[in-house]
Amino acid sequence: MARIFAVANQKGGVGKTTTTVNLAAALAAHAQRVLLVDLDPRGNATMGSGVDKRAVATTVYQVLIGQSEVSAARARSEAGAYDVLAANRELAGAEIDLVQLDNREKRLKDALAKVEADYDFILIDCPPSLSMLTLNGLCAAHGVIIPMQCEYYALEGLSDLVNTIKQVHAKLNRDLKIIGLLRVMFDPRSTLSQQVSDQLEAHFGDKVFKAIIPRNVRLAEAPSHGLPGVIFDKAAKGSQAYLTFAAEMIERIKAL
Ligand code: ATP
Ligand code: MG
Repeated sequence: MARIFAVANQKGGVGKTTTTVNLAAALAAHAQRVLLVDLDPRGNATMGSGVDKRAVATTVYQVLIGQSEVSAARARSEAGAYDVLAANRELAGAEIDLVQLDNREKRLKDALAKVEADYDFILIDCPPSLSMLTLNGLCAAHGVIIPMQCEYYALEGLSDLVNTIKQVHAKLNRDLKIIGLLRVMFDPRSTLSQQVSDQLEAHFGDKVFKAIIPRNVRLAEAPSHGLPGVIFDKAAKGSQAYLTFAAEMIERIKAL
């Protein structure tokens, strides 16, 4: 049965999408069966997986409002060797549509339950908000992966996210836990990066993943080629770090 992880942080531009896409491709490279779910109407994870968001007829939107099953809506990232439940701007309407539907926080969870046997990992790329879409991601997941930059204000936003996760755990999803904090866009030469990183370890202990993703321009270039970084340039430092992170995830789920 698939283990389901939401990649979330309400802070914008912290590397959620880059992490989801590269972890999906890196897990596939480790022979895991993976589904990536794009929960962001901008469809960056969809495009970064090499799936054209303008060309897909069915997306996560139809799944959320009950007009399609995941099995019919999913597309394939040929380059990444994983499946994609795509998103495009249509998904922006979901917030409003969901208000009128029953069980609105759990629509994604119920839809994914039907394909759980097809995958080892399901990864959900959440938008930068604590919206109904993110809530659907958190309700569907067994755990949350939180990418964060090691900068001065990083810890401040973290408490809001941790509180939201606690509330979802208490009221909606008893399975939910924080799997780990992933340090991304890390600059080993910066003293501040190092200090914040040390603080994170002191505060969160083994909830901090051992793998660290460095700042690496190859990861930022890859989406414009419609490829995950780990496929675009496997030898790049950033890609190697995501492959190491995938191995760590495979180890961690054995302990869950
Ligand atoms: P949003 O909140 O807008 O959804 P996000 O959290 O999904 O953003 P990304 O889109 O993954 O963040 O990353 C933000 C920007 O930083 C992108 O331009 C991406 O290419 C770049 N980026 C992400 N990770 C790295 C990295 N390790 N090295 C260099 N650039 C990176
Ligand atoms: Mg994103």
